[in-house]
Amino acid sequence: MREQEVTLASGLSGVIRPWKTGDLAVFTTRKMLKQPGPAIEAALMRAAWVDTLDRGPYAFDGKPPWLTDILSGDLQDGIRLVRALTFGDYHTAFNCIGPVCGEPIKVGIPLDDLDSVPYSKEALAFFTEQDNRIDWEFPDCGKKLVYGLRTGASMKRIDLMSREHGRHLHVSLAGSVRSVDGVRSNGLVKFMADLSFEDSRALEDELERLEGGYKDEVDLVCEACGLEQTQMIRMKPDFFRPEKPRTTTDDDGSPKRSRRESPSDMQPSGSQSQSTSVSIGSTV
Ligand SMILES: [Zn+2]
Repeated sequence: MREQEVTLASGLSGVIRPWKTGDLAVFTTRKMLKQPGPAIEAALMRAAWVDTLDRGPYAFDGKPPWLTDILSGDLQDGIRLVRALTFGDYHTAFNCIGPVCGEPIKVGIPLDDLDSVPYSKEALAFFTEQDNRIDWEFPDCGKKLVYGLRTGASMKRIDLMSREHGRHLHVSLAGSVRSVDGVRSNGLVKFMADLSFEDSRALEDELERLEGGYKDEVDLVCEACGLEQTQMIRMKPDFFRPEKPRTTTDDDGSPKRSRRESPSDMQPSGSQSQSTSVSIGSTV
């Protein structure tokens, strides 16, 4: 089985192997499907991670704790590299964003060739030296808050809150922060719902500012109308289970869907569990 050395967004490096058939049983294991947040991705990463070569910013012993302490950008980065090693290019289809077009654009994305987005020194310093605590202040209401880089643990928290309160932007914002001055933890959802748009947008930007992972966008040209466009890469079911070795088929022009598997749209921790976007590795 081909193994490969990889270095992830934080500097964590190790050896990965392709997924085996049984590794993907996580998608059909009832217990796994009930797990919050990035549990499935973490299980897939645990399966494929053969050995650690450099722990990067972490202090773990043994296997990397993908579901708790590992930064979510590393998890996303790792998943796309194992996906590339296992299945090669990601053959999928996007719908043209042209207002009167909407035709499918078929593409094979070389996942291992996408640009990595390493965590900056500043980001890693917060993570290693300040217990992943980053101070910030809302521009409009002036309140102070503390948040951290996204980890498996924080993605789990966001997911649990979303299950309770719905998959809304204000809920994911509430789950993303550690604390807000003068707001009790059980009042965070309401606090975020009451924010002005100036404050919520500023917080969204701030939560992305120091994140790492990889550039989850692809440049496309629509054959039907010629429109050039950039779209976010989404993990559809075929991301983890390509239907067949694809070459030139798909005569009906529509992306073929595999049987609906839960979660049907695998939502990577990076962005997912959060409200609006379902792209890989980005947020909110
Ligand atoms: Zn088009």
